Amino acid sequence: MRLIELQHITMTYQSGGRLHQSEVRAVRDVTLHIEQGECLALVGESGSGKSTLGRIAVGLEKPTEGRVLFKGHILDARKVDRQDRQALQMVYQNSFEAANPRFTASQVVEEPIRYFRLAPKNEWNQRILELLGRVGIPKDEAEKKTTEFSGGQLQRICIARALAARPELILLDEPLSSLDVSVQAQILNLLRHLKEEFGLTYLLISHDLETVYNIADRLAVMYAGRIVEEIDDIELFDSLRHPYTALLLGKDTDVEQKPAAEDKAVAGESDAAADDETGEIDATADDRTEGCVYANRCPYAEKRCFELVPELTEFEQGHRIACHHCR
Ligand code: SF4
Repeated sequence: MRLIELQHITMTYQSGGRLHQSEVRAVRDVTLHIEQGECLALVGESGSGKSTLGRIAVGLEKPTEGRVLFKGHILDARKVDRQDRQALQMVYQNSFEAANPRFTASQVVEEPIRYFRLAPKNEWNQRILELLGRVGIPKDEAEKKTTEFSGGQLQRICIARALAARPELILLDEPLSSLDVSVQAQILNLLRHLKEEFGLTYLLISHDLETVYNIADRLAVMYAGRIVEEIDDIELFDSLRHPYTALLLGKDTDVEQKPAAEDKAVAGESDAAADDETGEIDATADDRTEGCVYANRCPYAEKRCFELVPELTEFEQGHRIACHHCR
């Protein structure tokens, strides 16, 4: 069953003062769906629009255009009902910001049980201890303040809070990126086990393709507000080949044609973005209105890349790419 459907989502923000207003297109005409019980990973660099799209998917932001369907009905961010709010939970990157510093671990987990009236009061304590235990927080730590926990432990408590609401979908927005590598692996394992045990559906947002490989069922790569590549089965991971995906993976792509410098010169485009040595470029810099959003950085760009938007089309069964060369 399709749990979430995003249909032609566009999100535009106004920026600047009264005299010099400009538009920032965070998301451009994105259509995606999430099946019940699967983990869809949305991957891209900072500024690619993935967090905005995640917030739209769970009804926290209203898109400028397009609509979100949750279990077949329209999810309107201005009036999400209690049932849908309960069903759509979030776990964020920064657990220190997400958990009230005045609360104990048990108070954090109690919040959704109390707010959504999910159990009689005399059962709260047992339910809270069960959930904390399920994420690896021992009973005798339940009354410790959130400030006394490490980042990894606090992320476990935030996961328990999301679980307490009995969610149908959890938005996991970079849940590992502020943690040490060894702790990341533990949290990833925990999320994988919980998904199986509770039949959860995840929308996982990450900048790290290799990490999501270990948990995702399907994958979409986002750049400058557009989906540039999508696979319906993580088994197709090794076939990923869009030039931007290849950059994220740190590998050469096998698109047919090599750089065409004279074509770029004809198109009057700059190579500045491609010269970045860190690879950490803010994708919002590529606010192109014509052609491929990745053209300014792409080593394979040619004249048509600056003029024609490449549509997301089937490269092989279950694998779609938006690139003129990847045909
Ligand atoms: S359409 Fe052109 S610029 Fe865009 S990714 Fe493909 S080759 Fe590069």
